[in-house]
Amino acid sequence: MKVEITCKCSSCKLLLNYPNPSLSLLCACEDCRKALDWGFSQGGAPPITLPELFYVRSDIHSFEGLEFMKPFQLRSNARSTRIYCIKCFSILGVDHPGYKDNVFMFFKGFCNTTCDLSITPSAAIYLKDFPRNSKLVLPEGIEKIWSFTSEESIKFRSIPEVCKSFQDPITPAKGITFKEMIQNMPETEVLNLSAQT
Ligand SMILES: [Zn+2]
Ligand SMILES: [Zn+2]
Repeated sequence: MKVEITCKCSSCKLLLNYPNPSLSLLCACEDCRKALDWGFSQGGAPPITLPELFYVRSDIHSFEGLEFMKPFQLRSNARSTRIYCIKCFSILGVDHPGYKDNVFMFFKGFCNTTCDLSITPSAAIYLKDFPRNSKLVLPEGIEKIWSFTSEESIKFRSIPEVCKSFQDPITPAKGITFKEMIQNMPETEVLNLSAQT
């Protein structure tokens, strides 16, 4: 059975060819929070300080509601492209050049999914950006990446799940990739949020 990612208003649906995420991370970066804050300001789910990210194979069997999906970037030089539903402002998925279109990412709780979310996070990343006024609670024994210095990047890249997820695809996608799907959407809107905050 194929798993799906849907937005909270059910206008958008992605049916995936691979059921299980290959990687989970906890991310404390500023940009994740900005993207969740902005989504919330548009009617999406309330933001959290340490979102759980799941990475699934960029291989989509079919999709519905393309007319409600729109790509957004935080800044003109941004590398992440986030696909929101423009009715409910769920985030259906995120592309980044580092994912090499082998995987795409989604935020647990900011879309609905039937993917198996039982894998434990492999690392907590960008911990230096975690807000000082919040309490940082991490699973015991989790790999901690404070920033991406060259030393920490090596440590991060040596995590088997990271290595496997952020490689060039070994086999071609059976369906359409996440990047290919974005190419069928309207032009990316740049939010320029940093200028306003
Ligand atoms: Zn929606
Ligand atoms: Zn992040």
